[in-house]
Amino acid sequence: MSAYDVIVIGSGAGGGTLVRQLAPSGQRILLLERGDWLRREPQNWDAAPVFVDNRYVSPDTWYDADGKPFQPQVHYFVGGATKLYGAALYRLRQEDFAPLTHHDGLSPGWPIAYEEMEPYYTLAEQRYQVHGARGEDPTEPHASAPYPFPAVSHEPRIQQLSDDLEAAGHQPFHAPCGVLLDEAEMHRSACVRCATCDGFPCLVHAKSDADVLAVRPALQHANVTLWTNAEAVRLETNAAGTAVTGVVVDRDGERETVTGDLVVVSCGAANSAKLLLASATEAHPNGLANGSDQVGRNYMFHNSQAVLALSKEPNPTVFQKTLGLNDFYFGTNEFEFPMGNIQMVGKSQAPMFRGERPIETRLAPTWSLEKIARHAVDFWLSTEDLPRPDNRVTLERNGNIQLSYAPNNQVPKERLYAQLKSMLRHLGMHHEHLIPRTAYMKSEIPLAGVAHQAGTCRFGTDPATSVLDVTCRAHEVDNLYVVDTSFFPSIGAVNPALTTMANALRVGDHLLERLGP
Ligand SMILES: Cc1cc2nc3c(=O)[nH]c(=O)nc-3n(C[C@H](O)[C@H](O)[C@H](O)COP(=O)(O)OP(=O)(O)OC[C@H]3O[C@@H](n4cnc5c(N)ncnc54)[C@H](O)[C@@H]3O)c2cc1C
Ligand code: SF4
Repeated sequence: MSAYDVIVIGSGAGGGTLVRQLAPSGQRILLLERGDWLRREPQNWDAAPVFVDNRYVSPDTWYDADGKPFQPQVHYFVGGATKLYGAALYRLRQEDFAPLTHHDGLSPGWPIAYEEMEPYYTLAEQRYQVHGARGEDPTEPHASAPYPFPAVSHEPRIQQLSDDLEAAGHQPFHAPCGVLLDEAEMHRSACVRCATCDGFPCLVHAKSDADVLAVRPALQHANVTLWTNAEAVRLETNAAGTAVTGVVVDRDGERETVTGDLVVVSCGAANSAKLLLASATEAHPNGLANGSDQVGRNYMFHNSQAVLALSKEPNPTVFQKTLGLNDFYFGTNEFEFPMGNIQMVGKSQAPMFRGERPIETRLAPTWSLEKIARHAVDFWLSTEDLPRPDNRVTLERNGNIQLSYAPNNQVPKERLYAQLKSMLRHLGMHHEHLIPRTAYMKSEIPLAGVAHQAGTCRFGTDPATSVLDVTCRAHEVDNLYVVDTSFFPSIGAVNPALTTMANALRVGDHLLERLGP
């Protein structure tokens, strides 16, 4: 008999959400997390340690296509990347689930329709306490319930931006935010609406992350066990290769094997591919569940741009991430292809600029860093990158991740940037300045910006072209599931976490049915 009914590997948006969903069932659940709890300490909210010293970027070495090592922007903690995320919790658009023609080709459809995911989006918004306003975003898909919490209000400069956008004929909306904020009764509010949210851990545990809202509630159930500092290094199978029989774990420096009836991998897209590739056997010579040769392929991470515009009036906004704009998501009359999403990011602070060359070389000679920060209005632009088989995770000779990636769909990315730049004049901003911000990527190497990594074990109906079936079970291994962003067949142009959470809930319902009473 197995030691556990279910073993879940990785406690982030996918794994943490799933464990919370399974916890009330009474099944014996083991959650393995390679990292530790993220320490609460004053540095949580200090820009220089977080953005310049990369205090919460976990040490790891990956390699590019040429074998050159780099430090990826990874966060190995209970809660995974959600400990540091911006908690912009968007649904994919309904159209993202169907094939969509882009400048560089077709974004493939999903094997399930939006309608199948919709109830789980609603549940995920409830679990992660999302604030928002339905009906403002013209591209928003149908939703069966209102947002569980009212939209986070704009501060005056962002309200002005919203008004200016509307006056120019655009349709800005209140961005969906996962913060435990009660603006009506701030004396009760867990969230204090601070300037150190996006890219920072929340010192007061008021961000809707998977640690606070999934793992901790799950651990209230006696049947749930968490091992921290426990890295799964290999999955063992029966001789036929049809079932996982053991998870080999490095735990606090000791190696041990633990058994579970069902095994769910949720290590983040690159690390999940690594684990499967490292689990090759005679029955699975190219890596576990990899008869299709799709494990590790189709890696996506968005064509992202963090940019700073300079407001003519100072921008004293504290919590800036309250506005989004999807008017260019599916293209315009002048450019027929999808361009993507524009949203705000956390407000620039002068210490973040330390060492940022675009700021220093293009602005610092005439503007002091403090003045730049005072006037900065910060945007995040996301354009879809398309799944390409050669954009992939493989294993280096030493067993670490090798990430090969050639950019695609760059024209719409540039068009989105140009679109924003052309609007600045009407938005009370200096129209000649729209400056890239590399600090948000926490690295100058674009490849290292793996925050939105997805797609290495895509789900589908055809075992020849996908790794997982529609329930996110490996086509070739009966008791193996994957629930992190690996399953995405395409990534859309909005942030991926809510979709990962919603899908984990969907898979959770399937597992509950499979496990029985
Ligand atoms: C700075 C930043 C800002 C972001 N902002 C947003 C945002 O505003 N909105 C949004 O939607 N998304 C945002 N994201 C992305 C979002 O956080 C991720 O898409 C999401 O967390 C992915 O979920 P996941 O389950 O795939 O991986 P993760 O949440 O990263 O979880 C993977 C977990 O697996 C663990 N693990 C890895 N390998 C092993 C192993 N071998 N054994 C055991 N454990 C292992 C890791 O330590 C980690 O805890 C942001 C990310 C970052 C870094
Ligand atoms: S804005 Fe709220 S949720 Fe974000 S870090 Fe500050 S207190 Fe935490």
